[in-house]
Amino acid sequence: MCRLECALLSKCLLCKKTDFQIISKVDSKSLEKLLVGLCDNCGLIQQIPPPTVKELRIYYSREYRVEYKQSYSPKPKHVYRASKTAKQRIKFLHKSNICTGTLLDVGAGGGEFTYLAQRSRFKSKGIEPNIGYSEYARNEYACNVITANIDNIEGKYNVVTIFHVLEHLPNPVKAFEKFNSLLEGHGVLFVEVPWIETNDASPHSIFFKAHIVYFSIETLVACASQYFDVIKIDTSSNLKILFRVKKVPLSLILPNLSSVKNIKKRMDKKGWFEYLFKGLGIIKPMKKIVQWFEEDRMKKLSGKQIIDGFLEDEKS
Ligand SMILES: [Zn+2]
Repeated sequence: MCRLECALLSKCLLCKKTDFQIISKVDSKSLEKLLVGLCDNCGLIQQIPPPTVKELRIYYSREYRVEYKQSYSPKPKHVYRASKTAKQRIKFLHKSNICTGTLLDVGAGGGEFTYLAQRSRFKSKGIEPNIGYSEYARNEYACNVITANIDNIEGKYNVVTIFHVLEHLPNPVKAFEKFNSLLEGHGVLFVEVPWIETNDASPHSIFFKAHIVYFSIETLVACASQYFDVIKIDTSSNLKILFRVKKVPLSLILPNLSSVKNIKKRMDKKGWFEYLFKGLGIIKPMKKIVQWFEEDRMKKLSGKQIIDGFLEDEKS
């Protein structure tokens, strides 16, 4: 890790302090310059400087899906992957005794989770800023996914879900204020983000332009701490946290100094050896081959046929 004077110009998105240690200087996808720093005061890891709201709006309405998935609407392999994870997320809610009520999925993508939630016992709605993906959700599954940003959404829900979106937002603390405003009293928020402490992410694909913040358990809990209590934490695949709305909002509770020390140590240890042997990166090429055969079977099917196949599997 090293320090860079220009890092002093940026404020931490969690604690607003300005002292960072630079932990990466390159976008691992484009290989362009990208500074990522770890806050000395609270341990949050973030882009320095973070992009502006205007830059992000342009990026997500058009470029993002094309840049990362080479597509304006989901291909069969994307639907297959999204359906598989959507089914796991519904199971996670069911196991936590959250099985009914109104549900809003923020960043609904191609609508797979919104559709499966609707086919389960939720009254679900999704919002997705990407025009192609939200249109696909409506046309393919006839589910209630609207083309919008979270700022344009109002109403009250029993459950709000947000999967792999928070790391793209320029103000994660403010996002939790918005989620709180969208939830009924005792409402539940289900957040999933990439986990920066995992050992199964290749060192070559951790830091990139689309991700503004890189969460540990402590920094995600801290971002939510004004409005939410933790119900459940799961790191078996990414970082999943189930939160419940606090009766009375409190001040932000920042991670303590020992957790800041721990995340620094953790980031120093990350590397190829850990990824290949502890994270089983060494068998990833084999897993990719199996995945290719699985996904190849899907290429002649429609999105609806693929996702309904997962519902059939559940019945049998
Ligand atoms: Zn900080």
